[in-house]
Amino acid sequence: MKTALITGASRGIGKAIALELKNNGFSVIGTATTAEGVKKLMEDDIKGYVLDLNSPKSVEDFWNKIEDNGELISVLVNNAGITRDNIVLRMSDDQWSDIMNVHLNGTFQLSKRALKMILKNKWGRIINISSASASIGNRGQSNYAAAKAGVEAFTKSLAKEVGKRDITVNAVAPGFISTDMTEQNEGVSSKDLVKEIPLGRFGEPNEVANLVRFLCTDDASYITGQTIHINGGLYM
Ligand code: NAP
Repeated sequence: MKTALITGASRGIGKAIALELKNNGFSVIGTATTAEGVKKLMEDDIKGYVLDLNSPKSVEDFWNKIEDNGELISVLVNNAGITRDNIVLRMSDDQWSDIMNVHLNGTFQLSKRALKMILKNKWGRIINISSASASIGNRGQSNYAAAKAGVEAFTKSLAKEVGKRDITVNAVAPGFISTDMTEQNEGVSSKDLVKEIPLGRFGEPNEVANLVRFLCTDDASYITGQTIHINGGLYM
């Protein structure tokens, strides 16, 4: 049985991906930032670990535990995410660096570590959850859009580095998906956002999970270095 590691699996899109992969024959490891979140993962039959990508010590401790427990990862989904929205003129250094740490540095740190395991398996998948913001930009999200654009460029470069080893690396870029993250849209009502979406609604986490599951199968064996958009037509 192949093992998949999904960061930020306690809620939203990450949770949907974890359950989808578990229901399709993967042994699943998920992360949360708190012990309470880990407990909830365990209740869903997912091996839970604490991981805070904003803390280098937490990343180190997490990976030591993964190795000590003899986990052998074949699939990594870099999903964990936060927003720290503000217009550039008001954005604090912390708002900028928290986003870079969690999204961009986190994706690099975990990919580098997991890759060492994946190379031993001689098969693997790395899937980085990006965002339509990377392509469109978004007022108040210069930090987030820049980090996600970095994730997409990282995806292409890594895909070129490991392609010959039967490892694919892709990004999935959702538009508006109904999760806690989109509940936080300050000052913009979801009715106004929906007007911009040709399919006339937000997406559901399981719709993103279905795409990620497909990328993990052998049916997706010739897809690498791509950013696959899933946004109801918001960006095309
Ligand atoms: P969410 O519901 O807010 O869940 C975020 C997940 O990330 C939770 O599991 C959370 O753990 C974890 N997390 C938060 N801070 C973390 C940190 N410092 N270190 C490690 N893990 C952390 O978010 P979501 O909407 O599912 O988003 C998932 C991914 O999709 C993100 O990368 C996001 O940028 C991307 N995305 C979302 C949308 C959307 O419309 N929802 C659109 C485009 C892209 P706790 O439960 O412990 O806090």
